[in-house]
Amino acid sequence: MRSIIVSIILASCFLTTQAQKTYLYCGQLIDVQHLKVVKEKTIVVEGNKIVEVLDGYAKAEANDKTIDLKTSTVMPGLMDMHVHIESETSPSHYLDEFTLNTADYALAAVPIAQRTLMAGFTSVRDLGGSGANISLRKAIQKGYVVGPRIYTAGKAIATTGGHADPTNSYREDLMGDPGPKDGVVNGVEDAYKAVRQRYKEGSDVIKITASGGVLSMSANGQNSQFTEEEIKAIVAAAKDYGFKVAAHCHGAEAMKRAIRAGVNSIEHGTLMDEEVYPLMKQYGTYLVATMIAGRSSADSAKIPGYFPPVVAKKALEIGPKSQSNFARAYKEGVKIAFGTDAGVFKHGKNWLEFKYMEEAGMPVIEAIQSATWNAADLMGTQAILGSIEKNKLADIVAVPGDPTKNVDLMGQINFVMKDGVVYKSK
Ligand SMILES: [Zn+2]
Repeated sequence: MRSIIVSIILASCFLTTQAQKTYLYCGQLIDVQHLKVVKEKTIVVEGNKIVEVLDGYAKAEANDKTIDLKTSTVMPGLMDMHVHIESETSPSHYLDEFTLNTADYALAAVPIAQRTLMAGFTSVRDLGGSGANISLRKAIQKGYVVGPRIYTAGKAIATTGGHADPTNSYREDLMGDPGPKDGVVNGVEDAYKAVRQRYKEGSDVIKITASGGVLSMSANGQNSQFTEEEIKAIVAAAKDYGFKVAAHCHGAEAMKRAIRAGVNSIEHGTLMDEEVYPLMKQYGTYLVATMIAGRSSADSAKIPGYFPPVVAKKALEIGPKSQSNFARAYKEGVKIAFGTDAGVFKHGKNWLEFKYMEEAGMPVIEAIQSATWNAADLMGTQAILGSIEKNKLADIVAVPGDPTKNVDLMGQINFVMKDGVVYKSK
Protein backbone atom coordinates (compact mmCIF):
# COMPACT_ATOMS: atom_id res chain seq x y z
CA MET A 1 0.00 0.00 0.00
CA ARG A 2 2.73 2.41 1.06
CA SER A 3 4.69 1.82 -2.12
CA ILE A 4 1.58 2.51 -4.22
CA ILE A 5 1.09 5.87 -2.46
CA VAL A 6 4.78 6.71 -2.94
CA SER A 7 4.58 5.92 -6.63
CA ILE A 8 1.40 8.00 -7.04
CA ILE A 9 3.15 10.92 -5.35
CA LEU A 10 6.23 10.43 -7.54
CA ALA A 11 4.09 10.20 -10.67
CA SER A 12 2.23 13.42 -9.87
CA CYS A 13 5.52 15.18 -9.11
CA PHE A 14 6.83 14.00 -12.44
CA LEU A 15 3.74 15.27 -14.25
CA THR A 16 3.89 18.70 -12.67
CA THR A 17 7.61 19.15 -13.28
CA GLN A 18 7.19 18.05 -16.93
CA ALA A 19 6.29 21.63 -17.80
CA GLN A 20 4.14 22.28 -20.80
CA LYS A 21 5.80 24.32 -23.52
CA THR A 22 4.09 26.63 -25.98
CA TYR A 23 5.14 26.59 -29.64
CA LEU A 24 4.40 29.78 -31.54
CA TYR A 25 4.44 29.28 -35.31
CA CYS A 26 5.41 32.65 -36.80
CA GLY A 27 4.89 33.34 -40.51
CA GLN A 28 7.13 36.38 -40.17
CA LEU A 29 9.28 37.44 -37.25
CA ILE A 30 10.95 40.82 -36.79
CA ASP A 31 14.59 40.59 -35.79
CA VAL A 32 14.68 44.04 -34.20
CA GLN A 33 18.36 43.89 -33.43
CA HIS A 34 19.41 43.44 -37.05
CA LEU A 35 16.43 45.21 -38.66
CA LYS A 36 15.40 42.12 -40.62
CA VAL A 37 12.11 40.36 -41.26
CA VAL A 38 12.67 36.59 -41.19
CA LYS A 39 10.18 33.95 -42.31
CA GLU A 40 8.80 30.73 -40.80
CA LYS A 41 10.14 30.52 -37.27
CA THR A 42 9.04 28.74 -34.13
CA ILE A 43 9.34 30.43 -30.75
CA VAL A 44 9.30 27.96 -27.85
CA VAL A 45 8.07 29.39 -24.54
CA GLU A 46 8.28 27.68 -21.19
CA GLY A 47 6.97 29.39 -18.08
CA ASN A 48 7.64 33.11 -18.53
CA LYS A 49 10.67 32.69 -20.77
CA ILE A 50 11.62 32.13 -24.39
CA VAL A 51 13.62 28.89 -24.35
CA GLU A 52 14.29 28.49 -28.08
CA VAL A 53 13.84 30.20 -31.44
CA LEU A 54 13.91 27.57 -34.20
CA ASP A 55 13.90 27.65 -38.02
CA GLY A 56 10.73 26.41 -39.69
CA TYR A 57 7.67 25.07 -37.85
CA ALA A 58 9.15 22.70 -35.27
CA LYS A 59 7.11 19.72 -34.09
CA ALA A 60 5.65 20.01 -30.61
CA GLU A 61 5.37 17.10 -28.14
CA ALA A 62 1.90 15.74 -27.39
CA ASN A 63 1.77 17.59 -24.07
CA ASP A 64 2.73 20.96 -25.58
CA LYS A 65 0.52 23.79 -26.82
CA THR A 66 0.75 25.31 -30.28
CA ILE A 67 -0.31 28.76 -31.45
CA ASP A 68 -0.72 29.43 -35.15
CA LEU A 69 0.56 32.86 -36.20
CA LYS A 70 1.52 31.74 -39.71
CA THR A 71 -0.30 34.64 -41.38
CA SER A 72 0.96 37.19 -38.87
CA THR A 73 4.11 39.18 -38.23
CA VAL A 74 5.47 38.53 -34.76
CA MET A 75 7.65 40.94 -32.81
CA PRO A 76 8.80 41.58 -29.25
CA GLY A 77 6.24 43.13 -26.92
CA LEU A 78 6.06 46.87 -27.64
CA MET A 79 7.44 49.31 -25.08
CA ASP A 80 6.19 52.88 -24.71
CA MET A 81 8.78 55.05 -22.96
CA HIS A 82 6.43 57.87 -22.04
CA VAL A 83 2.95 57.35 -20.70
CA HIS A 84 0.86 58.70 -17.84
CA ILE A 85 -1.01 55.53 -17.01
CA GLU A 86 -3.13 57.02 -14.21
CA SER A 87 -5.15 59.48 -16.16
CA GLU A 88 -6.56 60.51 -19.50
CA THR A 89 -7.16 63.82 -21.22
CA SER A 90 -10.46 65.52 -20.43
CA PRO A 91 -11.72 69.09 -20.19
CA SER A 92 -12.28 68.46 -16.45
CA HIS A 93 -8.59 67.61 -15.91
CA TYR A 94 -7.79 70.78 -13.95
CA LEU A 95 -10.82 70.41 -11.70
CA ASP A 96 -10.09 66.71 -11.11
CA GLU A 97 -7.03 67.66 -9.07
CA PHE A 98 -9.39 69.07 -6.45
CA THR A 99 -12.08 66.41 -6.53
CA LEU A 100 -10.31 63.08 -7.01
CA ASN A 101 -8.50 61.05 -4.37
CA THR A 102 -5.52 58.81 -5.15
CA ALA A 103 -7.86 55.81 -4.95
CA ASP A 104 -10.06 57.36 -7.66
CA TYR A 105 -7.05 57.69 -9.95
CA ALA A 106 -5.97 54.14 -9.16
CA LEU A 107 -9.35 52.61 -10.00
CA ALA A 108 -9.74 54.69 -13.15
CA ALA A 109 -6.33 53.40 -14.23
CA VAL A 110 -7.50 49.76 -14.23
CA PRO A 111 -9.23 49.81 -17.66
CA ILE A 112 -6.46 52.08 -18.99
CA ALA A 113 -3.81 49.50 -18.07
CA GLN A 114 -5.82 46.75 -19.74
CA ARG A 115 -6.36 48.79 -22.91
CA THR A 116 -2.64 49.55 -23.11
CA LEU A 117 -1.68 45.88 -22.88
CA MET A 118 -4.29 44.83 -25.46
CA ALA A 119 -2.82 47.42 -27.85
CA GLY A 120 0.41 45.39 -27.74
CA PHE A 121 2.34 47.46 -25.21
CA THR A 122 3.69 44.89 -22.78
CA SER A 123 5.97 47.41 -21.03
CA VAL A 124 5.55 51.10 -20.36
CA ARG A 125 7.61 53.76 -18.66
CA ASP A 126 5.21 55.89 -16.67
CA LEU A 127 6.62 59.40 -16.34
CA GLY A 128 4.67 60.94 -13.54
CA GLY A 129 1.42 60.89 -11.64
CA SER A 130 -0.02 61.08 -8.15
CA GLY A 131 1.52 57.93 -6.70
CA ALA A 132 -1.35 55.67 -7.78
CA ASN A 133 1.04 54.61 -10.57
CA ILE A 134 3.25 52.80 -8.02
CA SER A 135 0.24 50.99 -6.52
CA LEU A 136 -0.93 50.06 -10.02
CA ARG A 137 2.47 48.57 -10.85
CA LYS A 138 2.26 46.43 -7.73
CA ALA A 139 -1.32 45.35 -8.46
CA ILE A 140 -0.31 44.23 -11.97
CA GLN A 141 2.72 42.36 -10.61
CA LYS A 142 0.47 40.57 -8.12
CA GLY A 143 -2.04 39.68 -10.82
CA TYR A 144 -4.93 41.73 -9.38
CA VAL A 145 -5.07 43.87 -12.50
CA VAL A 146 -4.33 43.09 -16.15
CA GLY A 147 -1.82 45.52 -17.62
CA PRO A 148 1.66 46.12 -18.94
CA ARG A 149 4.91 45.79 -17.03
CA ILE A 150 5.20 49.28 -15.51
CA TYR A 151 8.39 51.17 -14.79
CA THR A 152 7.21 54.29 -13.04
CA ALA A 153 8.67 57.61 -11.95
CA GLY A 154 6.01 57.97 -9.25
CA LYS A 155 5.89 61.74 -8.90
CA ALA A 156 7.83 63.86 -11.39
CA ILE A 157 10.35 66.36 -10.00
CA ALA A 158 10.08 70.09 -10.80
CA THR A 159 11.35 73.39 -9.37
CA THR A 160 9.01 75.90 -7.71
CA GLY A 161 6.37 76.96 -10.22
CA GLY A 162 7.83 74.51 -12.73
CA HIS A 163 5.93 72.24 -15.10
CA ALA A 164 5.38 69.48 -12.52
CA ASP A 165 4.91 71.67 -9.42
CA PRO A 166 1.65 70.12 -8.18
CA THR A 167 0.25 73.44 -6.93
CA ASN A 168 0.89 75.56 -10.00
CA SER A 169 -1.65 78.37 -10.37
CA TYR A 170 -3.66 77.37 -7.28
CA ARG A 171 -5.07 80.23 -5.24
CA GLU A 172 -2.78 81.48 -2.49
CA ASP A 173 -4.20 79.60 0.48
CA LEU A 174 -4.00 76.30 -1.41
CA MET A 175 -0.69 76.95 -3.14
CA GLY A 176 1.59 76.45 -0.12
CA ASP A 177 5.26 75.77 -0.72
CA PRO A 178 5.73 72.12 -1.70
CA GLY A 179 9.21 70.66 -1.26
CA PRO A 180 11.28 67.62 -2.24
CA LYS A 181 8.78 65.22 -0.67
CA ASP A 182 6.14 66.46 -3.14
CA GLY A 183 8.62 66.55 -6.01
CA VAL A 184 9.60 70.22 -5.89
CA VAL A 185 13.28 71.14 -5.51
CA ASN A 186 15.38 74.29 -5.35
CA GLY A 187 19.09 73.67 -5.10
CA VAL A 188 21.41 70.71 -4.92
CA GLU A 189 20.40 69.43 -1.49
CA ASP A 190 16.72 69.38 -2.41
CA ALA A 191 17.58 67.53 -5.61
CA TYR A 192 19.24 64.75 -3.63
CA LYS A 193 16.37 64.61 -1.19
CA ALA A 194 13.72 64.39 -3.91
CA VAL A 195 15.49 61.46 -5.59
CA ARG A 196 15.88 59.68 -2.25
CA GLN A 197 12.19 60.27 -1.52
CA ARG A 198 11.28 58.64 -4.86
CA TYR A 199 13.45 55.66 -3.90
CA LYS A 200 11.65 55.44 -0.56
CA GLU A 201 8.26 55.50 -2.29
CA GLY A 202 9.25 52.80 -4.78
CA SER A 203 9.84 54.61 -8.07
CA ASP A 204 11.78 52.84 -10.84
CA VAL A 205 13.01 55.85 -12.79
CA ILE A 206 13.43 59.60 -12.20
CA LYS A 207 11.57 62.19 -14.26
CA ILE A 208 12.36 65.89 -14.13
CA THR A 209 10.66 68.77 -15.90
CA ALA A 210 13.72 70.66 -17.09
CA SER A 211 11.70 73.21 -19.07
CA GLY A 212 8.23 74.64 -19.07
CA GLY A 213 5.48 72.46 -20.51
CA VAL A 214 2.30 72.75 -22.49
CA LEU A 215 -0.40 71.48 -20.16
CA SER A 216 0.62 73.18 -16.91
CA MET A 217 -1.15 76.40 -15.95
CA SER A 218 1.77 78.75 -16.51
CA ALA A 219 2.79 81.19 -19.18
CA ASN A 220 5.95 79.71 -20.68
CA GLY A 221 6.13 76.31 -22.34
CA GLN A 222 9.84 76.21 -22.98
CA ASN A 223 11.86 78.24 -20.43
CA SER A 224 14.69 76.56 -18.49
CA GLN A 225 13.47 75.57 -15.05
CA PHE A 226 16.49 73.81 -13.53
CA THR A 227 20.08 74.99 -13.21
CA GLU A 228 22.68 72.65 -14.66
CA GLU A 229 23.98 72.08 -11.11
CA GLU A 230 20.54 70.96 -9.96
CA ILE A 231 20.26 68.49 -12.84
CA LYS A 232 23.77 67.20 -12.16
CA ALA A 233 22.74 66.60 -8.55
CA ILE A 234 19.60 64.74 -9.69
CA VAL A 235 21.67 62.55 -12.02
CA ALA A 236 24.33 61.87 -9.36
CA ALA A 237 21.72 60.95 -6.75
CA ALA A 238 19.86 58.81 -9.31
CA LYS A 239 23.07 56.89 -10.07
CA ASP A 240 23.45 56.06 -6.37
CA TYR A 241 20.08 54.28 -6.51
CA GLY A 242 20.36 52.73 -9.96
CA PHE A 243 17.79 55.07 -11.53
CA LYS A 244 17.82 56.36 -15.09
CA VAL A 245 16.78 59.99 -15.56
CA ALA A 246 14.23 61.25 -18.09
CA ALA A 247 14.10 65.00 -18.71
CA HIS A 248 11.01 66.70 -20.07
CA CYS A 249 12.23 69.58 -22.28
CA HIS A 250 10.72 71.73 -24.99
CA GLY A 251 13.28 74.55 -25.02
CA ALA A 252 16.80 74.13 -26.43
CA GLU A 253 18.69 75.67 -23.49
CA ALA A 254 16.98 73.29 -21.04
CA MET A 255 17.93 70.37 -23.31
CA LYS A 256 21.58 71.40 -23.41
CA ARG A 257 21.77 71.66 -19.63
CA ALA A 258 20.09 68.27 -19.20
CA ILE A 259 22.25 66.53 -21.81
CA ARG A 260 25.50 67.89 -20.38
CA ALA A 261 24.33 66.92 -16.88
CA GLY A 262 23.98 63.32 -18.09
CA VAL A 263 20.26 62.52 -18.30
CA ASN A 264 19.39 59.39 -20.29
CA SER A 265 16.57 60.79 -22.39
CA ILE A 266 15.09 64.05 -23.57
CA GLU A 267 11.30 63.82 -23.56
CA HIS A 268 9.47 65.77 -26.32
CA GLY A 269 12.60 67.75 -27.33
CA THR A 270 10.36 69.90 -29.48
CA LEU A 271 12.35 73.07 -30.08
CA MET A 272 15.87 71.79 -30.76
CA ASP A 273 18.47 74.14 -32.21
CA GLU A 274 21.58 73.33 -34.25
CA GLU A 275 23.70 72.72 -31.15
CA VAL A 276 21.40 70.11 -29.66
CA TYR A 277 21.74 67.36 -32.29
CA PRO A 278 25.54 66.97 -32.02
CA LEU A 279 25.35 67.25 -28.23
CA MET A 280 22.82 64.40 -28.02
CA LYS A 281 25.02 62.26 -30.25
CA GLN A 282 28.10 63.08 -28.20
CA TYR A 283 26.41 62.08 -24.94
CA GLY A 284 24.38 59.19 -26.39
CA THR A 285 21.15 60.77 -25.13
CA TYR A 286 17.90 59.30 -26.42
CA LEU A 287 15.08 61.40 -27.88
CA VAL A 288 11.56 60.29 -26.90
CA ALA A 289 9.60 62.56 -29.21
CA THR A 290 5.92 61.96 -28.29
CA MET A 291 4.67 63.46 -31.57
CA ILE A 292 1.16 62.18 -31.01
CA ALA A 293 0.93 64.35 -27.86
CA GLY A 294 2.01 67.43 -29.78
CA ARG A 295 -0.56 66.79 -32.47
CA SER A 296 -3.45 65.82 -30.25
CA SER A 297 -3.02 68.68 -27.78
CA ALA A 298 -2.93 71.14 -30.70
CA ASP A 299 -6.18 69.53 -31.91
CA SER A 300 -7.81 69.72 -28.46
CA ALA A 301 -6.75 73.38 -28.19
CA LYS A 302 -8.97 74.16 -31.18
CA ILE A 303 -12.05 72.93 -29.27
CA PRO A 304 -13.44 75.99 -27.44
CA GLY A 305 -13.14 75.59 -23.67
CA TYR A 306 -11.20 72.31 -23.77
CA PHE A 307 -8.08 73.92 -22.26
CA PRO A 308 -7.73 77.13 -20.22
CA PRO A 309 -6.56 79.95 -22.56
CA VAL A 310 -2.98 79.96 -21.18
CA VAL A 311 -2.65 76.26 -22.07
CA ALA A 312 -4.43 76.46 -25.45
CA LYS A 313 -1.99 79.16 -26.59
CA LYS A 314 1.05 76.99 -25.79
CA ALA A 315 -0.51 73.86 -27.32
CA LEU A 316 -1.04 75.69 -30.62
CA GLU A 317 2.46 77.15 -30.62
CA ILE A 318 4.49 74.09 -29.59
CA GLY A 319 2.50 71.01 -30.63
CA PRO A 320 2.71 71.41 -34.42
CA LYS A 321 6.54 71.70 -34.30
CA SER A 322 7.05 68.24 -32.91
CA GLN A 323 7.06 66.24 -36.15
CA SER A 324 9.45 68.40 -38.17
CA ASN A 325 11.82 68.43 -35.21
CA PHE A 326 11.68 64.63 -35.02
CA ALA A 327 12.35 64.34 -38.75
CA ARG A 328 15.48 66.46 -38.41
CA ALA A 329 16.74 64.68 -35.27
CA TYR A 330 16.31 61.31 -36.99
CA LYS A 331 18.20 62.55 -40.05
CA GLU A 332 20.99 63.84 -37.83
CA GLY A 333 21.40 60.37 -36.32
CA VAL A 334 20.11 61.09 -32.80
CA LYS A 335 19.19 57.88 -30.91
CA ILE A 336 15.41 57.43 -30.84
CA ALA A 337 13.24 55.54 -28.35
CA PHE A 338 9.50 55.21 -28.87
CA GLY A 339 7.25 57.23 -26.56
CA THR A 340 3.84 58.80 -26.86
CA ASP A 341 2.77 60.71 -23.71
CA ALA A 342 -0.38 58.55 -23.65
CA GLY A 343 -2.81 60.14 -21.24
CA VAL A 344 -2.42 63.47 -23.06
CA PHE A 345 -4.48 61.57 -25.68
CA LYS A 346 -6.64 58.46 -25.23
CA HIS A 347 -4.67 55.43 -24.04
CA GLY A 348 -4.61 52.54 -26.50
CA LYS A 349 -3.94 54.77 -29.51
CA ASN A 350 -0.19 54.67 -28.80
CA TRP A 351 0.41 52.92 -32.14
CA LEU A 352 -0.28 56.18 -34.03
CA GLU A 353 3.23 57.29 -33.09
CA PHE A 354 4.52 54.60 -35.52
CA LYS A 355 2.54 56.26 -38.27
CA TYR A 356 3.91 59.70 -37.44
CA MET A 357 7.44 58.32 -37.28
CA GLU A 358 7.03 56.83 -40.74
CA GLU A 359 5.58 60.10 -42.05
CA ALA A 360 8.67 61.86 -40.67
CA GLY A 361 10.97 59.62 -42.68
CA MET A 362 11.75 56.70 -40.38
CA PRO A 363 11.12 53.24 -41.88
CA VAL A 364 8.52 51.25 -39.91
CA ILE A 365 11.01 48.53 -39.00
CA GLU A 366 13.23 51.14 -37.35
CA ALA A 367 10.23 52.58 -35.54
CA ILE A 368 9.52 49.06 -34.23
CA GLN A 369 13.17 48.78 -33.19
CA SER A 370 12.80 52.05 -31.27
CA ALA A 371 9.81 50.54 -29.41
CA THR A 372 11.64 47.32 -28.50
CA TRP A 373 15.42 47.05 -28.71
CA ASN A 374 16.15 50.78 -28.16
CA ALA A 375 13.50 51.13 -25.47
CA ALA A 376 15.02 48.24 -23.54
CA ASP A 377 18.44 49.87 -23.95
CA LEU A 378 17.09 53.16 -22.58
CA MET A 379 15.58 51.39 -19.57
CA GLY A 380 18.65 49.22 -18.98
CA THR A 381 16.58 46.04 -19.44
CA GLN A 382 18.07 44.64 -22.65
CA ALA A 383 19.22 41.50 -20.82
CA ILE A 384 15.58 40.45 -20.30
CA LEU A 385 13.47 42.43 -22.79
CA GLY A 386 13.48 44.09 -26.20
CA SER A 387 14.05 41.15 -28.58
CA ILE A 388 12.87 37.61 -29.22
CA GLU A 389 15.84 35.58 -28.05
CA LYS A 390 16.56 32.58 -25.88
CA ASN A 391 16.34 33.30 -22.13
CA LYS A 392 14.48 36.58 -22.52
CA LEU A 393 11.05 37.13 -20.97
CA ALA A 394 8.24 35.90 -23.19
CA ASP A 395 6.73 39.28 -24.12
CA ILE A 396 5.55 38.70 -27.68
CA VAL A 397 2.96 40.42 -29.88
CA ALA A 398 1.75 40.04 -33.47
CA VAL A 399 -0.18 41.83 -36.17
CA PRO A 400 -1.94 40.35 -39.20
CA GLY A 401 0.04 40.84 -42.43
CA ASP A 402 3.24 42.81 -42.81
CA PRO A 403 3.46 46.10 -40.86
CA THR A 404 6.72 47.06 -42.58
CA LYS A 405 4.60 47.46 -45.75
CA ASN A 406 1.51 48.91 -44.04
CA VAL A 407 2.04 50.81 -40.81
CA ASP A 408 -1.70 50.86 -40.03
CA LEU A 409 -1.41 47.19 -39.08
CA MET A 410 0.35 48.32 -35.89
CA GLY A 411 -3.12 49.39 -34.77
CA GLN A 412 -4.48 45.86 -35.31
CA ILE A 413 -2.61 43.80 -32.72
CA ASN A 414 -4.02 40.25 -32.87
CA PHE A 415 -1.83 38.48 -30.32
CA VAL A 416 -0.43 39.54 -26.95
CA MET A 417 1.70 37.43 -24.64
CA LYS A 418 3.27 38.94 -21.53
CA ASP A 419 5.49 36.93 -19.22
CA GLY A 420 4.47 33.75 -21.06
CA VAL A 421 0.73 34.34 -20.49
CA VAL A 422 -1.55 34.88 -23.51
CA TYR A 423 -3.83 37.91 -23.03
CA LYS A 424 -5.09 38.24 -26.59
CA SER A 425 -5.31 35.75 -29.43
CA LYS A 426 -7.68 36.15 -32.32
ZN1 LIG B 1 4.39 63.46 -20.23
